Amino acid sequence: MNVLPASFYDQFLSEQALKRKPSPIRSLYPLEKTPDMISLLAGKPNASTFPFTSFSFTARAPTEDPSLLGPEGGSRDTDVQVTVDPEDLATGLQYTDTAGIPSLLNWLGGLQEKMHGRKPSGEGWRLSVGAGSQDLIFKAINAMVNPGDSVLLESPMYAGVIPMFTNLGCEAHEVETDAKGISATSLRQILESWPEGKPKPKVLYTVPYGCNPTGMTAALARRKEVLKLAREHNFIILEDDPYYYLYYGTAERVPSYFSLELDEPEVGRVLRFDSLSKILSAGLRIGFASGPERLLGAIDAYTGISNLQTSSLTQMLTLGLLKKWGYDGFLTHTRGVSAFYGQKRDVFEQAMNKHLKGLCEWVRPEAGMFFWFKLNVPGEDSDAMIRTKALENGVLALPGTVFLPKGGKTAYVRAAFSLLAPADVEEAVKRLAKTVKGAKGE
Ligand code: PMP
Repeated sequence: MNVLPASFYDQFLSEQALKRKPSPIRSLYPLEKTPDMISLLAGKPNASTFPFTSFSFTARAPTEDPSLLGPEGGSRDTDVQVTVDPEDLATGLQYTDTAGIPSLLNWLGGLQEKMHGRKPSGEGWRLSVGAGSQDLIFKAINAMVNPGDSVLLESPMYAGVIPMFTNLGCEAHEVETDAKGISATSLRQILESWPEGKPKPKVLYTVPYGCNPTGMTAALARRKEVLKLAREHNFIILEDDPYYYLYYGTAERVPSYFSLELDEPEVGRVLRFDSLSKILSAGLRIGFASGPERLLGAIDAYTGISNLQTSSLTQMLTLGLLKKWGYDGFLTHTRGVSAFYGQKRDVFEQAMNKHLKGLCEWVRPEAGMFFWFKLNVPGEDSDAMIRTKALENGVLALPGTVFLPKGGKTAYVRAAFSLLAPADVEEAVKRLAKTVKGAKGE
């Protein structure tokens, strides 16, 4: 196995990233830890003046039972009390390393080893924590893509990332997707018919588990083919995987791109984004990127001039919980959360079978929180109907057009089933059915 060297990534860095220098103060931080060093370096506030003296909170005991994750709320006998270690508290109250609190990075590194078989530093990669994965994806794109660059984007794709590319005036090449996730055939066609002399795309953006918006999970053969194409056509895969832990399919889980690339002749083509938003709390704003050191360095350099670092305090709270639960507890919890969404998927699909059969088509998702369905309506366009008639009928959903990187018409609609109580599901789906029937003149 050949690990791509740091110099390999210069070709993938944007002009801005190549010009950007690491923060002069932050790059000297590590030297403060040298024994016997007296530091007059950073303008850190004196922590003794901070009013916080301890941090304790109550959390659920990890459980695989989805009924215990239900909306009842309140405290339970099994809840655990977490008191943050004084040492971690001191770290959490102060400025910390740009990439994140070292002990949290260490914990997350252990998690990546368990889940993806990769130990940080072992193969020239490391981690950075961000204010949600969104923050890291934005910075990665800024660090890699120049204005006007060609990029490979799965279509439909997560609407929150589209403007990151359009704001840079990128030329989007839409890679088709279907029930098996991203289409390697479509990707191959784009790349093999690439005009000679035109610079090839440097990145491919994809959401491989429970894709937002399609709900689909990329099949193993597709992933392997995409990795092969990445090597043949020299691009980096931006693996945005916030629904990885929300897999409730019955078949064995498909390995991530980050893990699969270990079987490739060379390693270092994948920049992976994880999120704790869907499993611990979206308000924590904690996500983490795993990938080649040079690319992570470029992300950190952006952080160094934007928000300096992700909140130490939320990192510290996260670490407090993760330490209390341990890896086993964390994975027990994620199994409970995925079972919870699996049940929600079932309830929603039952209602769809009852009210939308013949009016819509869909493929059942095995991960995540979305149904992506096609309305059998004249004109193959869901936009006006969802924005007007569905609203009049009292149901809100997202018209598929917002997920198309280049815009355009589509008959698809995205429905999120994460929040609804079973009784509301029935009513929501009935209202959708009424809307479609109205459009068909029934
Ligand atoms: N990527 C995808 C595909 C998402 O659906 C989301 C959340 N909607 C994000 C990234 C951002 O998540 P985070 O809360 O970690 O920033």
